[in-house]
Amino acid sequence: MTGLSGLKAVITGGASGIGLATARALAAQGAAVAVLDLDPGGVSEPLLGLRADVSDDASVRAAVEQAAARLGGLDILVNNAGIGAVGTIEDNPDEQWHRVLDVNVLGMVRTTRAALPHLRRSAHAAVVNTCSIAATAGLPQRALYGASKGAVLSLTLAMAADHVREGIRVNCVNPGTADTPWVSRLLDAADDPEAERAALNTRQPMGRLVTADEVAAAIVYLASPAAASVTGTALAVDGGMQGL
Ligand code: NAD
Repeated sequence: MTGLSGLKAVITGGASGIGLATARALAAQGAAVAVLDLDPGGVSEPLLGLRADVSDDASVRAAVEQAAARLGGLDILVNNAGIGAVGTIEDNPDEQWHRVLDVNVLGMVRTTRAALPHLRRSAHAAVVNTCSIAATAGLPQRALYGASKGAVLSLTLAMAADHVREGIRVNCVNPGTADTPWVSRLLDAADDPEAERAALNTRQPMGRLVTADEVAAAIVYLASPAAASVTGTALAVDGGMQGL
């Protein structure tokens, strides 16, 4: 498939889980793809792996410039890097709030700011942010994480409004619980990981977790010229969890 032929894409947090699945899916559609990650060691051809920390402005700027130079421009930015936090507001200290908001929200701001000069030169500019159903679902034990993703949702809508006249579209995906190394790490921390996984599957309306490839397909759609009139939207890929 070559629906993204000639387009150049940068994805943050693209060395694992949803990000890696998305990087591969973008490349499979013909895009040239640079992966910006804290640990891009496992990223292989045709993907270009670059080390970057989205919580460090200089690091992000340098990596975005390097990606644009190596790829020959930039059309698609996927802001996907994110970290989790479990607990109520009494469990997470201020330092953890600062850290999670810094990575999950400001990380997207920094990366998009660095990418905008390049996106303005593209005829098919698109930004896709990885949000979460935690933005709107009011999940227990996710006060900080949910607040960070709520901010991502608002940021997506605001950026869509700010840049629509420049021809830059901005959307987000809201995954439900997705089967990625992140979720495996959480399950592995339980006393009985297999029982915990079975219980997690049972709680899903479809009886299973969302796959990283399913989220990737939604991101690819929003990033593609097929979505040329779509901006300022949140596309849920949650197996029917929202509203049930
Ligand atoms: P993951 O842990 O498998 O992958 C996250 C990647 O981001 C890793 O490669 C990591 O190195 C990178 N990363 C973390 N901090 C970074 C930083 N400061 N700078 C650069 N890279 C950094 O996680 P995942 O499950 O694939 O999650 C990806 C995104 O999807 C996150 O934004 C997460 O909030 C969101 N999400 C995940 C789920 C889920 O259930 N897995 C559900 C909803 C939303």
